[in-house]
Amino acid sequence: MRKPVIAGNWKMYKLLGEAVETALALKPLVANTNHCEVIIAPVFTALKMVCDRLEGSNIKVAAQDCAAEIKHGAFTGEVCADMIKDVGCSHIIIGHSERREFYGETDRTVNLKTKACLHYGLTAIVCIGEMLPDREVGNAEKVVKIQLLGALDGLTVSDMERIIIAYEPVWAIGTGKTAMPEQAQEMHSSIRQVLTETQGKNIAEAVRILYGGSVKPDNVKDLMNQPDIDGALVGGASLDAQIFAQIINYK
Ligand code: PEP
Repeated sequence: MRKPVIAGNWKMYKLLGEAVETALALKPLVANTNHCEVIIAPVFTALKMVCDRLEGSNIKVAAQDCAAEIKHGAFTGEVCADMIKDVGCSHIIIGHSERREFYGETDRTVNLKTKACLHYGLTAIVCIGEMLPDREVGNAEKVVKIQLLGALDGLTVSDMERIIIAYEPVWAIGTGKTAMPEQAQEMHSSIRQVLTETQGKNIAEAVRILYGGSVKPDNVKDLMNQPDIDGALVGGASLDAQIFAQIINYK
């Protein structure tokens, strides 16, 4: 049984006070939530205080990126995965499409960052997903397979225990367009098939594959009813504690 994961990506929103306020508002709303893991990903500057204020709760905290480097050094502006762990985070989102599109992330950097995250014992939420033109010419599965294989290149069987995949069709992120549940299921099933071929059946059956792209309280249930959808990575609708709690408590 794969335990579902509902993760909120707060992107570059919320000043420190706002992030803490939203995290504290979410805390009682999910205090009795056992059916899924709950994760929030505030901006770097809020991570330490949000982690401190959520200590002992059932909400885990993720960073939205990390350095590809494992060793500390002269890398201005970068944040090493162990620094993220040091402030209390358990997860890192890696290879989000906004990072690929605006900051030049490639399958190679996604792979290095995933390895850096795993090196320090954190769980990587690895994002993959096709652009609209890929889908229009029938290349969605092929593109996603290349991204997946690139991200996981060189990982060991035990590494795979700390990998969560987030399938996020880029055309559905922040656009209000959600993939139809059946359309999403088809992609999730194809991702699990690639995992079966490359990592073996046991691992493929254990890895959680989240869906991301305009997930809202009114579409989460249909998505979660699909056999290969194991959770959601939520952007816009995670910014409000009440709305995010409705998504988390979709059952
Ligand atoms: C995201 O940022 O990963 C995302 C899926 O955003 P939204 O839910 O706003 O589409």
